[in-house]
Amino acid sequence: MDLPLAESWKIKMIEPIRKSTRSERERWLKEAHYNVFKLKAEYVYIDLITDSGTGAMSDRQWASLMIGDESYAGATSFFKMEETVNRITGFKYVLPTHQGRAAENVLFSCLVKEGDYIPGNSHFDTTKGHIESRKAFAIDCTIDEALNTQLELPFKGNVDIQKLEKVLIEHNDKIPFIIVTITNNAAGGQPVSMQNLREVSRLAKKFNKPVLFDSARFAENAYFIKTREKGYAGKTIKEICREMFALADGMTMSAKKDAVVNMGGFIATNMEEWYEQAKIKGIVFEGYVTYGGMNGRDMNALAVGLDENTEFENLETRIRQIEYLAARLDEFEIPYQRPAGGHAIFIDAPKVLTKVAKEEFPAQRLTVELYLEAGIRGCEIGYILADRDPVTRENRFDGNDFLRLAIPRRTYTNNHMDVVAVALKNVFDRRNSITHGMAIEWEAELMRHFTVKLKRL
Ligand SMILES: *Cc1c(COP(=O)(O)O)cnc(C)c1O
Repeated sequence: MDLPLAESWKIKMIEPIRKSTRSERERWLKEAHYNVFKLKAEYVYIDLITDSGTGAMSDRQWASLMIGDESYAGATSFFKMEETVNRITGFKYVLPTHQGRAAENVLFSCLVKEGDYIPGNSHFDTTKGHIESRKAFAIDCTIDEALNTQLELPFKGNVDIQKLEKVLIEHNDKIPFIIVTITNNAAGGQPVSMQNLREVSRLAKKFNKPVLFDSARFAENAYFIKTREKGYAGKTIKEICREMFALADGMTMSAKKDAVVNMGGFIATNMEEWYEQAKIKGIVFEGYVTYGGMNGRDMNALAVGLDENTEFENLETRIRQIEYLAARLDEFEIPYQRPAGGHAIFIDAPKVLTKVAKEEFPAQRLTVELYLEAGIRGCEIGYILADRDPVTRENRFDGNDFLRLAIPRRTYTNNHMDVVAVALKNVFDRRNSITHGMAIEWEAELMRHFTVKLKRL
């Protein structure tokens, strides 16, 4: 008999978590205007709001904190981080930033102008925010199949090459770069194949446009290439990462994801011109070029985390846990974006709450119901997060409406996943009694999901 697969680590430190009663949760959520971002974390039992900065660091990462070099300029911690990024990505120039959106802010301040078009695959919300706040347009060229949650495709995060080419032809002189998000977070943590990255790169060269990877989960993307794409089974994750990044001109990175740190990010590129411009913006917004908003100790932990999380066993443990939760949901026939992605399960809310009109935000209602059921905090990646169209100011209902259950790295066990699955089943069982959703009482102009105030209808 084959031995079952267990975690590639053991636990050295724990953090107690607390359950609550339904009446407590009713009160807390009302006080939070039915926006789970406004809940105190201590009111949450199992927190799946994000996998960003919420992972458990390794003993080697914690040890590296103690030998951080906090010098203002030229800290050894910076050079450790730079060396690691060079080695894993092949990019020569590395500019630290305090997190991923800061990397976007610095780089886009140099590259994006009013009226520009930035084509890519489902831009992440902060990426879209940094584009639209500069009065430029984020054009989503994800393959249409990504919208059909029940379709099983190995690389559902791919860019539709024909759509991309059409944008490149129509807006050629207004396109500063193409952006590819690996994995494609907004489409469900779905990977992009090496083949697709190659085609994007080929097309970009033809139109003489640089390619930027939004790389928050590049290691998870590499895992899927290794396990799903022909010709990669025998390659190491690190070899696959080098091959992916060779197809790009630069990257922005939220290290809170695949570098498994609580805070951090960077820009890396081989384009001297981008680096020289970004250095200046980086100093204004983030800090001097060898720390850019990070502590020396955090740069150390980032370097160790990147190295460890580009090893197969670590990624296998992680992604198997997502698959474990998916298998439990299959038992209960709960519909989610198939196949399970790299960092989260995305529940197809309109398929669950079939009686709730889209104007009443089904995924937000499901988020609310799951919290009330068991103190589990997911988050809406749907019609509220999609914001209004910048021109018409209408709600955007053309994408998916998901309840995202993001799984922090190395934080919860499969017992916790069982609680999540059963809590969701309980909501699922009473789905037909839920006939109304949510209404917006107040919203911000941009990235409204963080601060929106809602009421339950
Ligand atoms: C999280 C994330 C970002 C933004 O990074 P932060 O560290 O949260 O600022 C950008 N792109 C993608 C794909 C992300 O998942």
